[in-house]
Amino acid sequence: NGGGRKKREKPNILITGTPGTGKTTMASALAEATQFCHINIGDLVKEKNLHDGWDDQFDCYLINEDLVCDELEDLMEGGGNIVDYHGGDFFPQRWFDRVVVLQTENSVLYDRLTKRGYTGQKLTNNIECEIFQVLLEEAKESYPEEIVVALRSDCIDDMNSNVATLTDWIRSWSCQS
Ligand code: ADP
Ligand code: MN
Repeated sequence: NGGGRKKREKPNILITGTPGTGKTTMASALAEATQFCHINIGDLVKEKNLHDGWDDQFDCYLINEDLVCDELEDLMEGGGNIVDYHGGDFFPQRWFDRVVVLQTENSVLYDRLTKRGYTGQKLTNNIECEIFQVLLEEAKESYPEEIVVALRSDCIDDMNSNVATLTDWIRSWSCQS
């Protein structure tokens, strides 16, 4: 339930997890199944220039968290959004009704990231991020424990069942109001 928060007509879901765990693949399938809006934060940051330049050390944009939050505030208030990002501690807690942390077995994740062209420190950092469950810990620290759920994403069957589970959850949420 909403835990005392004012109920939106439709819920917002955050899909988080280490890069390569399948956030974008799952979020776009879920958006198609539910007609919810898929917001890929990485793409949004690039398109709308919501960053402070390129970070050479981490080989990614230096995301400007305030700009991202300002950009999304109205949309999130309306509900019906699936937000896809490898992080989530800077979003307002009230935005989300469910926080999904995708998790992938190390050797499977290693292969996916290698295929994506990750090598060296970038590859190691991401594998360690998964081993130490950094995104799950972050989600638990940033959101009420009862809305955080960890889901396995090792194979296509996992993805399909995750989409089905979340589609059911969305339907039942909308019936409760
Ligand atoms: P993320 O957005 O978390 O970085 P992607 O959705 O881009 O991850 O997926 C990374 C790669 O892994 C893609 O090639 C995708 O097709 C594949 N993939 C994602 N989820 C699964 C899954 N559950 N089973 C098998 N392959 C997957
Ligand atoms: Mn992605």
